This record gives sequence, structure tokens and C-alpha cells, in this order.
Amino acid sequence: MAARVEDQHVRRGYIGGEFVELDGQRRIQVFEAASGEVLAEVTEAAATDVERAVQAAQRALPAWAATPPAERAAALGRWHQGIEGRAEEFATSISREVGTPIRHSRSIQVGNPLAILAHTRDALASMALTEQVGNCLVALEPVGVVGAITPWNYPLQQVVAKVAPALAAGCTVVLKASEVAPLTAFILAETAGIAGLPPGALNVLVGRGELTGEALVTHPLVDKLSFTGSTRAGRRIAELAGSLVRPVTLELGGKSASVVLDDADLATAAKFAVYNAFLNSGQTCTALTRLVVPRARIGEAEEVAAATAAKLVPGDPLDEATRLGPLASESQLERVRGYIRLGIEEGARLVCGGAEPPAGRERGYFVQPTIFGDVAPGMTIAQEEIFGPVLCIIGHDGDDHALEIANGTPYGLAGAVWSSDQQRALAVARRLRAGTVEVNGGAFSTEAPFGGVRQSGYGREFGRYGIEEFLTPKSLQL
Ligand code: NAD
Repeated sequence: MAARVEDQHVRRGYIGGEFVELDGQRRIQVFEAASGEVLAEVTEAAATDVERAVQAAQRALPAWAATPPAERAAALGRWHQGIEGRAEEFATSISREVGTPIRHSRSIQVGNPLAILAHTRDALASMALTEQVGNCLVALEPVGVVGAITPWNYPLQQVVAKVAPALAAGCTVVLKASEVAPLTAFILAETAGIAGLPPGALNVLVGRGELTGEALVTHPLVDKLSFTGSTRAGRRIAELAGSLVRPVTLELGGKSASVVLDDADLATAAKFAVYNAFLNSGQTCTALTRLVVPRARIGEAEEVAAATAAKLVPGDPLDEATRLGPLASESQLERVRGYIRLGIEEGARLVCGGAEPPAGRERGYFVQPTIFGDVAPGMTIAQEEIFGPVLCIIGHDGDDHALEIANGTPYGLAGAVWSSDQQRALAVARRLRAGTVEVNGGAFSTEAPFGGVRQSGYGREFGRYGIEEFLTPKSLQL
């Protein structure tokens, strides 16, 4: 294994428009999800490397902030082309490090960020950055140097959803990419340079959260933080930022519910729920991991869900036929298997799946698609984010009860409502405490505001709302 690593390029940092040697001495191994073998190594950035990157971003700030929005939009357009030109390379790299089936890597892992980037560019082009209010000219100005910290599950999307609007706003960025799946961020850095983004506008480092991440969060020259990841880490970052009076956008975890009303097409809703909950092996922040159905129809829901899950045979993510890949890491595997065991201990009933590896998939980080019945809303598996292909089916006794269950976790990221009556579905959707709600299978938008409420975080990404996170109003009294 060691010889193989030496063959690989060891990725370093991207600072001031070039890949540079870092002071950090520690190497982080990146593992292939399907085999558990080492894919590459990355140098962990030390606090002094963070210092260099923030200084580079600070130096680049005045000129980029003063660049006319139309030119910034043009640069984002060139960047879009650059990413599109290397789409297959991104998709393959993500399938290897995260385990996403290659077809989903192309359409979602790479397709979504391209759409987000295009919408950001278009939103910037149509935004008014000044307005007259009374005797004042109100100017929306870039907030400054941005520290962006991202997770591993959608390693291109999470980065683009922060970096593109920050750059659009005229900010410069230091990105601390996830140490679990960092390779995508390095390809992205190459494309940024080629697109002609000025040196220092985007800087990329990798390292553990408590070391590199916290050095960035607390650096005196960082003006704004944008974080996507777990509620646990978000809480810590918000505490640190709070003591520094530094604004933060937090995109955190979820435990979202799919609510099926008594007049809904249950079979369609249950199929959707399974495909949604098991997308990217359940490692999706918006995963609808609780299927809340009329109590009298639980049996029917379990049957449809199990039949749908049976079609999702875990396989090699690089195989075109695969629709369910492995989890991303060894620790993810242990975490998800632990929750499956806990669900059984808590008294939930396995409809399908279980904690043992799927047949013939003992290597790599594979887990069986798992569905639980007889789930009580207060069970740990119905309250905590599992982040694996595990679906809980829960019975309800009417709309109010369904909403009580759906709203009955500390989270509020996403949700879904199904009814044959669109107005009724909409009325229930309005009562869900969540940032995004699918109504009768409405598609995920890369343009409308995205984010959470309660412990799923605050602030929004995508389109105009995403750019506004990086702007601050100044009133010029005339
Ligand atoms: P994580 O919180 O462990 O790590 C996320 C990032 O934060 C990583 O880069 C990590 O190094 C860094 N980090 C961790 N502790 C830190 C600290 N103290 N200071 C600074 N940085 C720190 O999360 P993860 O395991 O990478 O990702 C999975 C989580 O992300 C899930 O909870 C998921 O729901 C959430 N997520 C949310 C969204 C959203 O948009 N709401 C999207 C994707 C993932």
C-alpha cells in the first residue's frame, strides 16, 4: 500500500494562485470508499499556512471588490466552462473518494454545482447593488475575507455553493476543504486559476477541523465564516465566532420527514422516500429519513419501501449500473452500523437490511439499505441524523399528528408532503418547520434559497439569497 501512495501526487495547498509547499508536516490519507485502500495523501495545513492563505486573500481583496460586477460575473462564467470541461474527471474522483455511483456523480455531484454556479452568475448580473432609501444611497458592499469550511458528502457542491456567491459579492476566500474527501477541491483550484480568477481570490487548504479549521475560524483578518457540516461542529464554530463578533452562515444536519396524508398516492410517495433517503447512500443533509404514513397503511408502505430498496443492490460506484455505492469512510461505516444495532435494541423492527455487510461486499465501506418499522417518534434512530441508507417508517393519526412527528426533532432542514389535493399539501407544507419542503415530489432547486431553521442552521445559499450572505449594506447619507 505504501508503494502505491508514493506513486500518487501528494496534494499541498493552493495559495495566491499557485500550488505551494506548506509548513504543515502531517499527511492525511484519503481512502477509496469501495476498497478501503489509500487513494492519495494530502498535506495538512498548519496555522502558519492558514496565516499565509488569509494574507493572500486579504491582498487580493481591494482589487476584486472594486472589479465591476459584470466582470466578476464573466469570471464566474469562465469558471463554469472550466469545470464543465473537466466534469468527468470531477465525477470519477468524487465516486472514488465519496463512493457515489458514477451516474449520480455526473448528474448530481457535478451537475448541481454547475447549475448553482450558473444561477449565481445570473443572479449577480441582475442584482441591484445600490438603492436610494430616503436621503441615503444604500450600497451593498462585499463583507471582506471569507473563511469557508465544507464537508465531504457533496465535495464540489458544498464548495461551489459558498465560493461562487462569495466571489460574486466581491469577497475573497480561504477554503478549508474536508479532510475526508479533499481531492475535488484541488481540481477545483486548478480550474479557478485557469478561469483567470485573480491570484489570492480563492485559496484552498485541507486539514482537520480542530487544527486548520479553528485557525481559520479565529484568524483576525477573516470577516465572515460560511460553514457546512454537522451541528456539533457548527455549534463550536458559532461559539468561537460569537466571541469574535464574526458573522457566520451555518448549513448543518437534518432529520427530515416525508409526510404522507391520507388521500395521497402512497406507493409513489414511498418509492420517492426510499430513493431520496438512500441517495448518496443516505449521506445527504436533506435526506428524508423518516417516512410518516397513515397508521392504517403502514403495512402497505413497508411493502413498497422494501421492494424499492431491494432494487438498490450495493455495488462498485464506478460501474454504470450501480445505484447504491458504499459509505465514504470507515468511521461512517461504524457510525451507521452502530445506529442500526441501536434501532434493533430500541425495539424497532427490521423490514429489510441490517448491520452486517451486504453479501459479497466485505471490502470497502458498504452497508445494507435498511428500513425500520415499528419506529416510535422518540427513538434515537428517529431523532438523530444517521447519515447512512436507513429509513424509519412511522405511523400517524391525522394531519396534526403527522406534523407533530415531522416537527418533533431539533432539526429543520427539509421535508416533503404528499396529498392528492395540492392545496391541502401546500397548507401542511407551510406548517412544516423546515427551510425546504418538497410538495408532491417537487424537484430540488439550485436557484431558490436553501438552508435550515433551528439546529439545521441559519443563513441561505443559492442564487440571490446566497450572494446576500456575503454583502453588507452601507448607508451613504446625502
Ligand atoms: P463535520 O462537521 O465533521 O465536518 C465538516 C467540516 O468542518 C470539515 O471540513 C471539518 O474538518 C470541519 N470542522 C470540524 N470541526 C471543526 C471545528 N471545530 N472548527 C472548524 N472546522 C471544523 O461534518 P462532515 O462529517 O464532514 O459532514 C456531514 C455533516 O454535514 C452532516 O451532519 C450533514 O447533515 C452536514 N451537511 C449539511 C449540509 C447543509 O447544507 N445543511 C450539506 C451537507 C452536509
